[in-house]
Amino acid sequence: MIYIGIGANLGDREKTLQKATGILNAKPEIAVVAASAVYETAPIGVTDQPYFLNAVLQVHTSLSARSLLNCLLAIESKFGRIRETRWGPRTLDLDILLYGDAIIDQPGLQVPHPHLHERAFVLAPLCDLKPDLKHPVLGQSIQFLTESLGMDLSVRKIEGLNLIIEK
Ligand code: ATP
Ligand code: CA
Ligand code: CA
Repeated sequence: MIYIGIGANLGDREKTLQKATGILNAKPEIAVVAASAVYETAPIGVTDQPYFLNAVLQVHTSLSARSLLNCLLAIESKFGRIRETRWGPRTLDLDILLYGDAIIDQPGLQVPHPHLHERAFVLAPLCDLKPDLKHPVLGQSIQFLTESLGMDLSVRKIEGLNLIIEK
């Protein structure tokens, strides 16, 4: 199972998440099989920027992790993403969170995503999809990791907003 984190905090965030999901799913090598609820989340790191919308997609793909990353970076550029400051505002952010059980530590590609286990805006939507999934490095379930963060007021599920998956 491969999981991708998707986030946006500039422009029409909802439309961006929906369109990016459609673009991913339209690739012949990628099938989006599930989407979490959408969460509105407070920015971390650089806190003086708009709130994010975040969700997690479960995908199947024949692409290697590296090829998938390149594909995600190309989609980000399509949405006008310009990398200025790390953790700064962005029209679209697509991160590989998990690529099955793979543990990858290469220049420009780390999987599981190195901050996965400490970010409520990733864990909460991932927990919706697969609470019993084990983190390949830590060996703990996503539910355990989510609960370990304690009550987190920085993420709020948006009721009634769901990403539509069409092939
Ligand atoms: P963070 O990685 O902390 O979430 P960010 O998403 O803002 O921060 P970016 O500027 O989007 O960081 O990405 C910087 C680089 O991170 C990318 O160019 C990419 O090569 C690298 N990277 C390493 N591992 C991953 C991964 N699992 N998914 C996406 N990008 C990754
Ligand atoms: Ca990110
Ligand atoms: Ca990123």
